Amino acid sequence: MKPLTEQEIRAAFVNCTKGEARRLSVPRDLAELPWDDLDYLGWRDPQAPDRAYLVAELDDAGPTALVLRANGSAAVGQTRRSMCSVCLTTHSGGVSLMVAPKAGRAGQQGNSVGAYLCSDLACSLYLRGKRDAGVGARLHETITLEEKIRRTVTNLAAFVAKVTS
Ligand SMILES: [Zn+2]
Repeated sequence: MKPLTEQEIRAAFVNCTKGEARRLSVPRDLAELPWDDLDYLGWRDPQAPDRAYLVAELDDAGPTALVLRANGSAAVGQTRRSMCSVCLTTHSGGVSLMVAPKAGRAGQQGNSVGAYLCSDLACSLYLRGKRDAGVGARLHETITLEEKIRRTVTNLAAFVAKVTS
């Protein structure tokens, strides 16, 4: 994806108030991130362990960013392997249920959408083999990396669409 500035990221949030978007923690090392290897940027809030954020540029309309609430990793058995619903990497204890309040009125009324995602939101790096999820992390597949990336972006876009619809 193309590099984003802190200002662009803050302006892209669709499911929180403008005040929250101004205050939430955005990574400080934006300039050093491996943007070329990212299909989306996701990060955990260092000040609030149950908060996570992601930003993706899914169409020409500009980036969309989401506020997510992660359930504690203790809630999912550490020995059970679970699969990220976006990049389809399997981890033991490295997948969290992330819940996003819906955008707009629906969100104010308490509606939300959940998905199982890599706990560190590093789907792009697992896909490219730049981060290791351990033995058996990937199903053996004959499709190319490009196809896996396309599938990941499609899965992410479907999640974002559910939040913004
Ligand atoms: Zn993932």
